[in-house]
Amino acid sequence: MEITLHNTLTRRKEPFAPSDPSRVTMYVCGPTVYNFAHVGNARPPVVFDVLFRLLRHVYGENAVIYARNYTDIDDKIIAASIQRGVPIDEITRDVERQYDADIAALNVLVPTRRPRATENVPAMVAVIEKLIAKGAAYVVPSGVYFSVAADEDYGKLSGRSQDELKAGARVEGEDDKRHPSDFALWKASKPGEPSWSAPFGAGRPGWHIECSAMIEEELGSPIDIHAGGVDLIFPHHENEIAQSESAHGHPLARVWMHNGFLTMDKEKMSKSIGNIVTPHELLDEGWQGETIRYALLSAHYKAPLDWNDDLLDQAQKSLDRIYGAALRLKDVEPAAADAPAAFVQALADDLNTPAAIAELSVLVTNANNARKPAEQAKAKAELLAATNLLGVLQDDPERWFRASFGDQAAEIDALVAERVKARAEKNYAESDRIRDELAGRGVEVMDSATGSTWRRKG
Ligand code: AMP
Ligand code: ZN
Repeated sequence: MEITLHNTLTRRKEPFAPSDPSRVTMYVCGPTVYNFAHVGNARPPVVFDVLFRLLRHVYGENAVIYARNYTDIDDKIIAASIQRGVPIDEITRDVERQYDADIAALNVLVPTRRPRATENVPAMVAVIEKLIAKGAAYVVPSGVYFSVAADEDYGKLSGRSQDELKAGARVEGEDDKRHPSDFALWKASKPGEPSWSAPFGAGRPGWHIECSAMIEEELGSPIDIHAGGVDLIFPHHENEIAQSESAHGHPLARVWMHNGFLTMDKEKMSKSIGNIVTPHELLDEGWQGETIRYALLSAHYKAPLDWNDDLLDQAQKSLDRIYGAALRLKDVEPAAADAPAAFVQALADDLNTPAAIAELSVLVTNANNARKPAEQAKAKAELLAATNLLGVLQDDPERWFRASFGDQAAEIDALVAERVKARAEKNYAESDRIRDELAGRGVEVMDSATGSTWRRKG
């Protein structure tokens, strides 16, 4: 199975060939842990979770090493700590836990490694020392800066010219840097801020060096795939490349992947604009994590995706159909069958999730139409294998439908039980009446040899 991926660095879709198929490495820039993640922040962990699943499918479960970090030291975190009067590590540990819980609800697998920036400061100091020794970085009173002029390649990822880079690169407190687009590797210690000792003066790391150092520490470079949101191309990933490649003399990553923005009314969902929806509140409103995940996967990862209730409603309907098929085959023992080639091929084509979802719909139809036991066993196996790759149908079908009816589920259970009793007593008028009442609530009862189950009417 050949995987092709769009590489931001070459601006082309390319066949993917890991440098060592028994050790495929990927890194995704993780959250800055200062407040709740919004659904846009959940897009990278969800889409690259599908990539992780696909790579494991192709190269083997233990052959893929996936690292996603926590940025737990940053200007925004320090500001939040001062504003709320809460110690930094209390905020970061809390938000980290919340983040993990939120994305676990979206069926995101736990990455192989989850380094924290604050636990890797010595590795950052080591890279900075290397850069200073090579003349690629310099020390001034406000900190240590990377010298963009010393790097001929600078701008290759984002495609920006040195002239373009000069514009708008001023940051408060960095007046002593030599060139406007030089960026901080290390910020000299300020009163009341956390700081670490270093040969070039006490201080704290800049954001970009955190990822460069953690990649080196956790995976070693070059890595096979580096990914994140499209807003990270510049300056974050450009600067990661500049630092790592200047320090180590070889590429940081071979393939760079970037997901498009989640928008609301066509505007980027962002904390600073304030147009945000969080998985946390959607889960509180009774949406299932899997519905949020499915909605996020309904567009190609590179395309923008506009978030609205209609998108969630559609996702819920599609999942109800998938769960309905699974419920129908509840008592069928699945055969030994893999996900069909057409489905895997769709994902292998630069993670084309809309095409994969279309193939999945065919599998659902097959499952619904299967009558012979052998057909049903194969259809069920294919449905399970395909949905595992996409990370959906991870719930028990009966629980799924119960959960989607929220508080009404217990009443529906009671009605279904009454109907079973009426049938046992051969009171068919009553059992038909209850069936009609349930139908009025959008519920379909399915009777089988082992009892009665119910689902949302398709
Ligand atoms: P942050 O916590 O702001 O550093 O963002 C974490 C991740 O979410 C990064 O990979 C961003 O590129 C990504 N991200 C932020 N906003 C959006 C959005 N509206 N749509 C898609 N990805 C986003
Ligand atoms: Zn990063």
